[in-house]
Amino acid sequence: MHLPKVADAVADDMSNTTMHSLSNALWNTLASPLRILRFAAFLGVAHSSGFLSYSPFSPQSTASANDVRVLILGGGMAGITAAKALHEQGIDDFKIVEARGALGGRMKVFKFGAPGRQYSMEAGAEWVHGTQTGDGPSNPIFDLARKHNLTMHPSNYYGSMTTYDYTGPVDYLETWNKAIRAYANLTVTGGHRVPKGLVDTTSRNGYSMIGAKPQTHQEAASEYYQFDWEYAQTPEQTSLIASSWAEAAEFLAEEQVLLNATVKTIKYSRDGVSVMFSDGTTLSADYALVTFSLGVLQNDDVRFEPVLPDWKMEAIHGMTMGTYTKIFLQFPKKFWFDTEYALYADEERGRYPVWQSLDLEGFYPGSGILFVTVTGDFANRVESFTDERVKNEVLEVLRSMYPNTAIPEPDAFYFPRWHSDPLYRGSYSNWPASFVSGHHTNLRATVQDHLWFAGEATSLKYFGYLHGAYFEGRKMASHIARCIRNARQCDTMEHVDEVMNLGPYGTDLDWD
Ligand SMILES: Cc1cc2nc3c(=O)[nH]c(=O)nc-3n(C[C@H](O)[C@H](O)[C@H](O)COP(=O)(O)OP(=O)(O)OC[C@H]3O[C@@H](n4cnc5c(N)ncnc54)[C@H](O)[C@@H]3O)c2cc1C
Repeated sequence: MHLPKVADAVADDMSNTTMHSLSNALWNTLASPLRILRFAAFLGVAHSSGFLSYSPFSPQSTASANDVRVLILGGGMAGITAAKALHEQGIDDFKIVEARGALGGRMKVFKFGAPGRQYSMEAGAEWVHGTQTGDGPSNPIFDLARKHNLTMHPSNYYGSMTTYDYTGPVDYLETWNKAIRAYANLTVTGGHRVPKGLVDTTSRNGYSMIGAKPQTHQEAASEYYQFDWEYAQTPEQTSLIASSWAEAAEFLAEEQVLLNATVKTIKYSRDGVSVMFSDGTTLSADYALVTFSLGVLQNDDVRFEPVLPDWKMEAIHGMTMGTYTKIFLQFPKKFWFDTEYALYADEERGRYPVWQSLDLEGFYPGSGILFVTVTGDFANRVESFTDERVKNEVLEVLRSMYPNTAIPEPDAFYFPRWHSDPLYRGSYSNWPASFVSGHHTNLRATVQDHLWFAGEATSLKYFGYLHGAYFEGRKMASHIARCIRNARQCDTMEHVDEVMNLGPYGTDLDWD
């Protein structure tokens, strides 16, 4: 995932290529339970985004009858920033509950490579998007990385490309450049519909409206690079309008984090929340903040008692969860392109299209590591195959790209299965054309004043991104803090009972 969804930010990124790949240093801090303290320390100096501010207050003075005041369900970016925001507002009676043995969620580092040639790789989030332009607002993730002197490498997304198709190396850079311009045009077209109150439609329709209609395999691959590789789904599956929008050493004590604890049931009422774990134990709280991915909520991996209201269910099932899968290979030595990226145009759109070399200056020179990304339905299909089958398909593609090279067996091969992992059920959320703002309000809304939701998917502006999760965690925790402070001032996230049709099919039309 690599581009901001806001049209202006797209333009900024295109002009100064400000995308950065975070180094191992950042993700290594998240890799193991032993590193939680380092991670928390890292967040402990995080940029404050200036949400609600409160006068000094000591919530502990009125103790809760429950186990804790707040249960933060999920220890990814949203969960951690929620904890930090509570702490900043004087509330330390909370517990982060996480199924894995480490914090970090979809920021997930792993060691990859043959013995003696291992490197730290990111299975999930990798880029900091739309870092900063001039004195404008910066991405808080970028601020964190800068404050801690983490090594970042600017990604030359628009200037370091080699192109191939199933006959071998073919120069279609002009076609690819055209697709870059078409995508920028698409986001502008989508953005213009909002102030005019025009109905949403699919991004495929948007492309057709601007006359961008890929006919050849090379055109389809070029479009894919701009679109699917970002949204993890096709233009048909994505809204046109939405495509244009775009520390514990200091504050976390050991008892505030519960690792290896998988939530099975969440019981809620106007009196509070009680959570049951897979081992049958329970914890109760005045408030719970659910930060599980949209995919987890969609797949009933966690049961709610009572069942969530219809308006919430409609919202959860109305948004989609895309899959973005990086397939890593390590070879004895490099035989491929010298650019950062390569694009492969197959006869089938989306078949192993975007390749990235890590055997490059600034990355991991001499590593022999290359990876290819697949998305959406193709990624889900790949997950259902054995590793051996996927490896053979990938090698077959490499052999088409390099017909005159003897491609050896890789020394190492790996890909994460985000779609089938019950802790994620996909990579990040995407906004389909049938999902309207009322749905989004409901995705974010509080249920019975005590059950709150946050995570990348609840962010209106930055859904899908790390910084979306960052802001949402902080925002919801600030609201919860206010409720704890003074129930009368409790400012819950409101919902819409029924999401009505939008014009031109609205109820204001006279059909008689
Ligand atoms: C392959 C991939 C590439 C990406 N690339 C980028 C990128 O380049 N830039 C970017 O900004 N974003 C990127 N993202 C998106 C980014 O990683 C997410 O938006 C962000 O990490 C989401 O944080 P979160 O806190 O909302 O959710 P999560 O990180 O999913 O946190 C939720 C936590 O809940 C836990 N959990 C789930 N179920 C249970 C349960 N039953 N009981 C207890 N715990 C549970 C999970 O283990 C997880 O730790 C990428 C994501 C993926 C997968």
